[in-house]
Amino acid sequence: MTERPSSPGTVYLRGLNWIGDAVLSLGALQGLKKARPGIHVTVGAPPATAGVYRLSDAVDAVIVPPPLLSGVRFDAAVILPRSFRSAWESVFLSESRIGFASEGRSLLLTDPLDYRRWKERHLHQSTYYETLLQALDPGTRFEPPRFSFSGEDLAQAGQRLRTLVPEGDRVLAVNPGAFYGRAKTWPTHHFVTLLDQLLSEDAGLHALLFSGAADRPLAQEVLRRLPHPRLHSVAGRLSLPESAALLSFCDALVTNDSGMMHLGAAAGIPGVALFGPTDPVATGPVLPEKGQGIRILSVPTACAPCLLRECPIDHRCMERLLPDMVLPEILRLLKEKDSE
Ligand code: SF4
Repeated sequence: MTERPSSPGTVYLRGLNWIGDAVLSLGALQGLKKARPGIHVTVGAPPATAGVYRLSDAVDAVIVPPPLLSGVRFDAAVILPRSFRSAWESVFLSESRIGFASEGRSLLLTDPLDYRRWKERHLHQSTYYETLLQALDPGTRFEPPRFSFSGEDLAQAGQRLRTLVPEGDRVLAVNPGAFYGRAKTWPTHHFVTLLDQLLSEDAGLHALLFSGAADRPLAQEVLRRLPHPRLHSVAGRLSLPESAALLSFCDALVTNDSGMMHLGAAAGIPGVALFGPTDPVATGPVLPEKGQGIRILSVPTACAPCLLRECPIDHRCMERLLPDMVLPEILRLLKEKDSE
């Protein structure tokens, strides 16, 4: 291991490529900032996740895309991805490079950590980031990730919402997509049934469809099957920070296991996450210190978690999770929000 300064210094963090992973990594960064106040954190982020890092007050600067040579040297570099390329990119940025040993990159790291040992313990993904940043400062403790919105972000989101929903009405955010693959998406007919029941039962409730650009056709399909004056969509139309700020104004979220689930959790709204082929022990949403957070709903299925992108059989893990099982959870969340 290399010697690192014990006083506050500068650290370069090679950011992650997936939105959900990037959000989770913020929790370890928050812990690092608390353990070592005054440390200056620069994140090298791909365009897809730069917006996540810009929403965190644990990050001082974001460079897009991750640089090979920044003209600046850092006291230490922490490489969050496990790819060979991410370690190679960081060689010229610091003499002290921390990362998990994988993909034959140990020689590029000065502090290679044992990935196999971490994996065998079957822990939540948050511990992956905590372990890496504890190698920099052992006092780092993971915290529930949270966004810090600017006044301008919030003003724009509030205005956007008022063009769709009258003041005083409640809003259920709905994410019908999951970028990773169709196996993670709750069937469209279930979303339609759920929203039809909710909007029929509650005349003061609006539903607002969110998604990334790639999943916009799924949102359009829900709208086509359920034309309703209180069902709206911003799917595929907003930047990541705009989506996160708008989510923070919503009363509850129903979502697949996706980046949007982690965005909702960090934006501080309660919700329900529908899990099928993935493993909630490893990638479930992190519950907040206060408030309800996002709860997991799933049905026991012998083949789950398969972690496949496409289901090779009949998608029973999601088909058998019926709208009638989800409806009471949403109603409960909305009722509890009313009583706050
Ligand atoms: S194989 Fe099983 S767990 Fe995987 S997507 Fe299909 S039904 Fe779900």
